[in-house]
Amino acid sequence: MAASKQSRFDVAVLGGGPGGYPAAIRAAQNGKKVALIEAKQVGGTCLNRGCIPSKTLIAGAEVLHKIQEADQFGISVGKVSFDYAKMVDRKEDVVDKIRKSLSGLIAANQITLIKGFGKFTSPRTIKVQGEDNVEIYADKIIIATGSEPRNIAAFPFDYKKIHDSTSILELRTLPKSLVIVGGGVIGCEFASLFSTLGVKVSVLEMLARILPMEAEVVSKELSKAFTKKGIHIETGVKVEGIEVTSGVKVTLGDGKYIEAESALVAVGRSLNTHNIGLEKAGISPLANGMLEVDTSMQTKVSGIFAVGDISSKWWLAHVATHQGIVAADNATSKLATMHYNAIPSVIFTTPEIATVGLSLEAALEKGYKAKVGHFPFQALGKSQAALEVDGFSQIVIDQTTGQVLGAQVVGKEAATLIAEMAIVIANELTVECITETIHAHPTISESWMESAFIGENLPLHWPPKPKAK
Ligand SMILES: Cc1cc2nc3c(=O)[nH]c(=O)nc-3n(C[C@H](O)[C@H](O)[C@H](O)COP(=O)(O)OP(=O)(O)OC[C@H]3O[C@@H](n4cnc5c(N)ncnc54)[C@H](O)[C@@H]3O)c2cc1C
Repeated sequence: MAASKQSRFDVAVLGGGPGGYPAAIRAAQNGKKVALIEAKQVGGTCLNRGCIPSKTLIAGAEVLHKIQEADQFGISVGKVSFDYAKMVDRKEDVVDKIRKSLSGLIAANQITLIKGFGKFTSPRTIKVQGEDNVEIYADKIIIATGSEPRNIAAFPFDYKKIHDSTSILELRTLPKSLVIVGGGVIGCEFASLFSTLGVKVSVLEMLARILPMEAEVVSKELSKAFTKKGIHIETGVKVEGIEVTSGVKVTLGDGKYIEAESALVAVGRSLNTHNIGLEKAGISPLANGMLEVDTSMQTKVSGIFAVGDISSKWWLAHVATHQGIVAADNATSKLATMHYNAIPSVIFTTPEIATVGLSLEAALEKGYKAKVGHFPFQALGKSQAALEVDGFSQIVIDQTTGQVLGAQVVGKEAATLIAEMAIVIANELTVECITETIHAHPTISESWMESAFIGENLPLHWPPKPKAK
């Protein structure tokens, strides 16, 4: 639907990523006339430069990895090779297909898609410039402008040898070696992907361990797996600068340097709140660009909501989507509240990692008398059958009430397995609820039941603790 100049809407959503477009859909479902303003492509970072392209390449790498293991299943496949350019073509096809169906969904919900960059001109008006040039008025506005890779002056990004997470996804040939600056989620996912594809990878992390925001047991397990894969990890190192040579030369704080064909800088993101005219709306972002919101996702200015990366520390697509739905309901007079106690978070490395709720450390810090039920995958029939014995599941339990406070899983199918614990934690269930739930055999989901049995000191497929004499 083309936007006429000076259009009036009930709800306008600024930014069409996983925070913005679900907000627009929900507001339209609630019977409102809705505008969705997008400067680039619908789907935002997640669909176009993040979750979907990276996971499509990772899915290809997993197939390669499995084929390379075929011999252990008694299958001979001969010499295995792959064409990275074809993997990239497939990634683009997948993104394109989803983008088209998303555009169809937006149209089917009778949302007016306005293409261009939007800036507030008042608390109720946004001027859009680009393919469409309009000034719109809306009773309620939801800001969902997301984030971009952080540009750091010390690193002269040329997007040929020194990459950010966007340009690395556009490569059509693989470098022989890659230095990754930053051992957080994005750095580790790319390290795992490229290492599986035969690239010599080094990861440099300033803090004491990779995945510093995860429970220590989780980052230890990934470090062990990465080292086994041949990934070189250096922690506690500060990268001073990167120089383009015939490849790249990465200088560390102690004067040492590492050379490689390319570098990927994955050290955080900057929030898109600085040039959208927020001052005209009466909103001041925090120093890091974040917008403060209440549990209804409303900013300090009545009628203006903010969702997605710009609104919380949770930079995850599914959080953005949930926030978008909460904001849209509140913007259209249906009460909804945003809760953050049961947010599943997945890291798509090999092995996969997924967590929800509190780690043991966080639970103890909050004053809970907490314990864990920890079960290694090697004791599961399904893990042995599928040759996926590395990893574990772990449940964090409040000893006083038996309530499950958190869960961590490392290994095959972690991304899918975490859904069960998200339901347990969101509904404040106890460890008994898990042991009383019959889990299908043989599946990796039995690992939760086994962890829960261990948490209750009634281990089933694990030796009991020696009795005190
Ligand atoms: C490499 C990578 C992998 C990732 N993998 C995962 C994953 O596996 N799982 C997961 O949950 N999360 C993942 N993420 C994070 C996820 O992509 C983000 O958390 C999510 O996209 C945030 O959604 P959002 O709607 O807040 O913002 P965005 O997705 O950034 O969307 C914002 C949109 O607003 C538009 N916009 C900005 N300013 C304006 C303006 N003034 N006018 C009009 N339009 C504007 C932008 O063009 C963009 O389309 C990944 C991120 C990266 C970089």
